[in-house]
Amino acid sequence: MSTPSPTTVDRDTPAAPPRFEQLGVIGCGLMGGSFALALKAAGLVQRVVGYARSPQTLARARTLGVIDVEAPSALLAASGADLVLVSVPVAATGETLRAIRPLIGPDALVMDVGSTKGDVVAAARQALADRLGQFVPAHPIAGKERAGVEHASADLYRGCQVILTPLAETDPALAERAQALWQALGARVRTMTPEAHDAAYAAVSHLPHLLAFAAVRALAGQPRAADFLGLAGPGFRDFTRIAASDPDVWRDILLANAAQVRTQARHFRAALDTFEAALDAGDAHTLRELIAEASRIRTQWAAGAYAATPPSSDPPCTAPPSSTSPR
Ligand code: NAP
Repeated sequence: MSTPSPTTVDRDTPAAPPRFEQLGVIGCGLMGGSFALALKAAGLVQRVVGYARSPQTLARARTLGVIDVEAPSALLAASGADLVLVSVPVAATGETLRAIRPLIGPDALVMDVGSTKGDVVAAARQALADRLGQFVPAHPIAGKERAGVEHASADLYRGCQVILTPLAETDPALAERAQALWQALGARVRTMTPEAHDAAYAAVSHLPHLLAFAAVRALAGQPRAADFLGLAGPGFRDFTRIAASDPDVWRDILLANAAQVRTQARHFRAALDTFEAALDAGDAHTLRELIAEASRIRTQWAAGAYAATPPSSDPPCTAPPSSTSPR
């Protein structure tokens, strides 16, 4: 893997799939559970040891066959693993990495799946010390608005992009291994800096989630909200789908990337002002032009004009409108 330039599209030809003896998953929810199931389905791992905050989640992960062994702590989930996945809300990344550091094996590959990268990398620098070179930060652009291990699936990552943001200190062999692993799960891998990642995902994910939360709240705060909601159709369903996302996960994401989200909010306010000015002036021509431009860009995006592969052609990343929420 090359040194991270602001944005690099990595090679498309997958390397040989890496195989692992033991995966330690810390955070057995949607993302961690799906990763474990995907590795098992691909025959890339012998044994999965999991840890979750609550005993109920851990027991459920075991019952569902997501993990083989329940660990009583994050530390013991990492112990003996040659692959460790940290899949907790991003604000818990630092404490998790600090907890596991003493028992990370000398050759183990450690990854996360957090939706923000600047904060995760900063936390890793603080927590991992001599193990920093083994950490390959990752963000799979896949998911659902429904959190929890019961929604995990083996094919969640198939056809999706995975962004890797390796550090200058990252062991190049482990970065290669991480890339080959995600490719073996059917993902397309891109490498970029944490800063480039956070700027891009503030625009295409974090602000859109904030707008969906705000739109639902704005409606719910009105006296006739119940009537309005009862009349809502597909437009409301599609626009607000991601407002059903997990509160803990999204609190952490928005706080972690607050500066970039505020920048995007300013762009959005300016665009809203432009639309409102056309409405105030009764300017049908301008209003039509504004809508036509947005419609054209959205259509081009869905046709793959901005990506190596069309974003709408890769289920389950962008599967039925009611089920997925790539972050
Ligand atoms: P999730 O289904 O709620 O799973 C989170 C897991 O972390 C649960 O097992 C939870 O345990 C555990 N956990 C929560 N707080 C913890 C803490 N303080 N210490 C240790 N474990 C803790 O959430 P998810 O959707 O998988 O999200 C996990 C990560 O993936 C987040 O960083 C998110 O940014 C990233 N991500 C999510 C998506 C998506 O669409 N969901 C997409 C891309 C990236 P309990 O169940 O016992 O509470």
